[in-house]
Amino acid sequence: MMEIVQIAVLNDNYVYLVHDGDETVVIDPAVAEPVLAAAEARGWTITQILNTHWHPDHTGGNLAIKAATGCRITGPAGEAAKIPGIDRAVAEGDTVQVGSVTGRVIDVPGHTAGHNAYYFAGADVLFCGDTLFALGCGRLFEGTPAQMSASLSKLMALPDDTLIYCAHEYTQSNARFAVTVEPANTALASRVIDIDAARAAGKPTVPSTIGLERATNPFTRARSVADFATRRAAKDAFR
Ligand code: ZN
Ligand code: FE
Repeated sequence: MMEIVQIAVLNDNYVYLVHDGDETVVIDPAVAEPVLAAAEARGWTITQILNTHWHPDHTGGNLAIKAATGCRITGPAGEAAKIPGIDRAVAEGDTVQVGSVTGRVIDVPGHTAGHNAYYFAGADVLFCGDTLFALGCGRLFEGTPAQMSASLSKLMALPDDTLIYCAHEYTQSNARFAVTVEPANTALASRVIDIDAARAAGKPTVPSTIGLERATNPFTRARSVADFATRRAAKDAFR
């Protein structure tokens, strides 16, 4: 039974500890100290880091955690040269392991050129970094709208009950934009009420699910690449 611990760090980043059997894997350590402390508090030893992409708010803790634990670091082959301390580069079709649970690597370029997602089918869990967010998607720093649109389509092909563990708590600001795109979407309107209540209570809105994003996320609901591109550009300009 895979256990997942969500650690909020910096302004709005989430780092995850994923534990099964003798293994504890860290997803996207922005920083080291709170991650090491969370593992230690549970009597877990970090054995591996999985990075989704090279941005410092996803890799900043790599070297300190490796120095403290001797863990191995696995990251995207498409940007391996930018991943501090990387031991193993993986891409589409490769697998990663957390105890008895196997994860599949999915190439999801768009936010960065070599961005990976990690999908653990046996646990119905997806770690997607800065590709798919609750009610949003990552900015296109290194990729094209066509690339990001294709990446989101790959993720939306996963089962509806898949839990989406993204790397940021951006949901409330994403919601402000989403309702301007689909003002008549009643599923979205009721989700926004839930989101505002959760944030007012100091609770995370992550994880989401594929089914929820399919019903409410304006980026997964774009009708074409051109439609997606228009929505992404509008969000970039939205205040
Ligand atoms: Zn990023
Ligand atoms: Fe990020």
